[in-house]
Amino acid sequence: MMAAQDPQRRLWNERVELMSHDEMRALQLSRLQRQVAYNHAHSPYYRERLDAAGIAPRDISSFDDFTHVPLMDKVEHRRVQEESLVRHGTPFALLACAPREKIVRVSATSGTTGMPTLYTLTAHDVAVVNEMHARKYWRAGIRPGHVMVQALSLSMFTGGLPLSQGIQHLGACVVPVGIEGGTQRVLDFAHLTRPDALIATPSFGQYLIEQCPTLTGKPANELGFRWFFCAGEPGGGNPGLRRLLADGFDAKVFDHTGGGHAFHGISCDESPDEYKGMHFTSEDHCLLELVDPHTHAPIALAEGAVGEMVFTFLDWEGGPFMRYALGDLIQVWTKPCSCGMPGLRFKIVGRTDDMLIIKGVNLYPEAIRQVLMGFAPRVTGSFRIRLREPGPKVVPPLHLRIEHGPDLAQADLPELEAQLQTRMRSELRVAPLIEWLAPGILPREAHKTKFIEIVGDVGH
Ligand SMILES: [Zn+2]
Repeated sequence: MMAAQDPQRRLWNERVELMSHDEMRALQLSRLQRQVAYNHAHSPYYRERLDAAGIAPRDISSFDDFTHVPLMDKVEHRRVQEESLVRHGTPFALLACAPREKIVRVSATSGTTGMPTLYTLTAHDVAVVNEMHARKYWRAGIRPGHVMVQALSLSMFTGGLPLSQGIQHLGACVVPVGIEGGTQRVLDFAHLTRPDALIATPSFGQYLIEQCPTLTGKPANELGFRWFFCAGEPGGGNPGLRRLLADGFDAKVFDHTGGGHAFHGISCDESPDEYKGMHFTSEDHCLLELVDPHTHAPIALAEGAVGEMVFTFLDWEGGPFMRYALGDLIQVWTKPCSCGMPGLRFKIVGRTDDMLIIKGVNLYPEAIRQVLMGFAPRVTGSFRIRLREPGPKVVPPLHLRIEHGPDLAQADLPELEAQLQTRMRSELRVAPLIEWLAPGILPREAHKTKFIEIVGDVGH
């Protein structure tokens, strides 16, 4: 969208990214009204939903009015795709708004069981996604001439081709090595292409740091990366893990989100130990709302508020999502950030479907990882929650399997365990049963790590 950028400028699209809050809200509202009318006119599904709720597009005169539109989630999305296949012989017919000849890309969400949920894009939507990727990497300091190794699953996943294209749109050079060829291949290309930046899940980054000396004969901080971009997992917001990645690669660590759709954000890196969340970089293309995960009642976007994230695409032609609840719990901050970068900030707190309830206390795997990382290097940070049956209700005690660090003597385990128990009780209000594992026992996953294992389903 923007051409011929001055490499000195701080933001990719200053006109939009520096917009005042009031101006941005006005732009969002006018785009929202237009989008709802478009969705109603072009998607049989949305028309049915809006009509059933007694809402006509012209009724939307404020953001409040819009909160009466019913939510949609992945289960509903799959159901609509299935119904569409049965009734029309294509998964897109009910939801997609653009005619078939305008759809140029289909992406899918990752790591879920059952039918993948599809994102459909026109050339206009592809340009929007490219613009969003460019905004994020530009803020982090990536410029034409920089080489970025993309070590994420490339297969259909929204962190695959859409991300590669976004990097090219900015004018930087992408090495889309993927993870399908294994760790050695990633390291070979890191050596061969002399890259500046690595994009990977924090878990895979940690694994590369562990494996690099064995596989290449040198530590990971000699690979030459100056940036590590965390993707695909909430671990990029975990200070212990950020410190480990920063030291391991001798790189700045950024957390970012947004693959093939309109919701994007990137953290501001000052120190790996202080995480201020991700700045929301696509407000002009995506309306963000928070709702209570149980009652779905709206929660105001106020400083420090926590709720389930709901988003609505504001300028989308293909399959626009409207009040889509993706199952992510986030916390938001509206006050200006000390980094000086504009925009509302958010942090991913956990997945609503990962939530465990132990004696009335809500617990997320990410919160356990956060506590654990405070004990590195006495622990590796890898762990599993072992359940006898699927959650969210857990009969105590919570069974944790935790890897201790490679240099920890067996005799020091009881003291470590006592300290860990104290911290878990004070920060998470749980008293787990801890099973210690040797370092490196648990499989490292390049994609999304499944922290919960169900007995009888162990080893996946
Ligand atoms: Zn900031």
